[in-house]
Amino acid sequence: MPVNYEELKKDRAQEWRDQLRKSKGAKERSNIDRVKMPENPPLKRNRNFFEVNKGLSEKQAILEASRCIDCPTPTCISGCPVNINIPGFIKYIEKGDFLKSAEVLKQTNALPAICGRVCPQETQCEIKCIYNKMKKPPVAIGHLERFASDSERNSGNISIPKTAKKNNIKVAVIGSGPSGLTMAGEMVKLGYDVTVFEALHEYGGVLVYGIPEFRLPKEIVRTEIGVLEKMGVDFRKNIIVGKTITIEELKVEGYKGFYVSSGAGLPKFMNIPGENLIGIYSSNEYLTRVNLMKAFKFPEYDTPIVRGKHVAVLGGGNTAMDSVRTAKRLGAERAMIIYRRSEKEMPARIEEAHHAKEEGIEFMTLTNPIEYFGDSEGWVKSMRVQKMKLGELDDSGRRRPVPIAGSEYDIDVDIVVVGIGTAPNPIIPQSIPELEVTRWGTVVVDENTMQSSIPEIFAGGDIVRGGATVILAMGDGKIAAEHMHEYLSGK
Ligand code: FAD
Ligand code: SF4
Repeated sequence: MPVNYEELKKDRAQEWRDQLRKSKGAKERSNIDRVKMPENPPLKRNRNFFEVNKGLSEKQAILEASRCIDCPTPTCISGCPVNINIPGFIKYIEKGDFLKSAEVLKQTNALPAICGRVCPQETQCEIKCIYNKMKKPPVAIGHLERFASDSERNSGNISIPKTAKKNNIKVAVIGSGPSGLTMAGEMVKLGYDVTVFEALHEYGGVLVYGIPEFRLPKEIVRTEIGVLEKMGVDFRKNIIVGKTITIEELKVEGYKGFYVSSGAGLPKFMNIPGENLIGIYSSNEYLTRVNLMKAFKFPEYDTPIVRGKHVAVLGGGNTAMDSVRTAKRLGAERAMIIYRRSEKEMPARIEEAHHAKEEGIEFMTLTNPIEYFGDSEGWVKSMRVQKMKLGELDDSGRRRPVPIAGSEYDIDVDIVVVGIGTAPNPIIPQSIPELEVTRWGTVVVDENTMQSSIPEIFAGGDIVRGGATVILAMGDGKIAAEHMHEYLSGK
């Protein structure tokens, strides 16, 4: 999305911003140390599901906000997939007007309390902050985003974005993850009659079934969904579009536009010997049981989970990190990450890998499982792994892991969680044979409009990208809304 620098210039020229800039020189600002996020102590938090990061206090947030030098050309914005007016919201924090700060965030981001917690800022906005050029830690944009939106929520004065007069055109959003929620919010603002259909019994997609409570409390997701409800979005759960109701049936009900945001929730396995033994979970099942079905509160909640003593989690992404930290919290004595490349290539957010280590997670890198062994009752009891070394660059631009012959050894395990990635949810593509899909099962769209091969069907998020990030899924929802509006209004 192109950044509108003219609008930003006008915003920056406001008198109060000018005065605030003059109140402290750039040198003085850049000499302030980055404020550290307060955290619960690692050896206490690895036994509970309370949030790890405690959030900045008002004083800390104002100090961190004063590090931002309110650049005339704020490079940080170009790193944000939804182009948040970053200095705009940060300067309101420095001024002490936290509600206004949250309002600025919500102009372009419908889910700021979520993004402030889970976005990989270190590779997006923060990496573009001017401080990097000065060899200093960037402004903590993510921590400030979280602070502003939490302040608004805690104040009880949550602003509800304005919506246009109803145009009585019905739009169906399939899937209630971050992409579907963003699309729904944008379309309801434009006056459409929006219904979100969700297969599960709770709304939020990965935000509720995947990312654990200790990183993203579910209450926050519910609050953000509550705002959309107040704006007029109709939510319907326990409905699998393509199975319990088809797109054709929805058309008969009067729906004119469809947004497919059904995600990439299909587990992947390694297909190695012994993978069907009891005690080997996909990360989806493991995390869904614990997060969505509250297995960590069993028997207060009905869903059980096997609590292993020696748990191996395969993979190096956020899913693997969430699974292994969950296993530790469920009482594992040994909770291990088994990853075939080195730590440098791990796709997990740096903060998550750092927190995992602090919590006592063992990182077994350059190691790959090749076989599982079970006991007489079919439970997994050990796994054979092989050491790897890094070879030439592969298609992903990372060095390819190469097995080292004769380096195999066995590890005792009673639970294994396979978190090596997921594939696009196949239900919608299977139910609409004319919809063009790639050989990986992702829906083909025009990336400028998110329109699919069927004009009234748009798609975005993980069903198009095959597994990406919350903010990219949200960015797709915004683009799709803009172009579905053009399509439906004949502009
Ligand atoms: P999803 O969030 O997957 O939502 C899709 C929804 O569609 C689901 O609720 C599903 O039930 C529903 N659905 C599917 N088919 C149908 C149907 N036929 N009818 C009705 N409903 C249907 N990203 C980050 O930026 N930061 C992180 O820290 C991070 N951590 C992650 C941790 C885990 C464990 C996982 C799995 C992913 C993580 N990600 C993270 C990635 C991020 O969550 C996803 O990229 C994002 O959620 C994709 O959003 P989406 O809306 O496309 O799909
Ligand atoms: Fe502030 Fe950094 Fe953005 Fe400049 S680049 S406006 S210092 S956050």
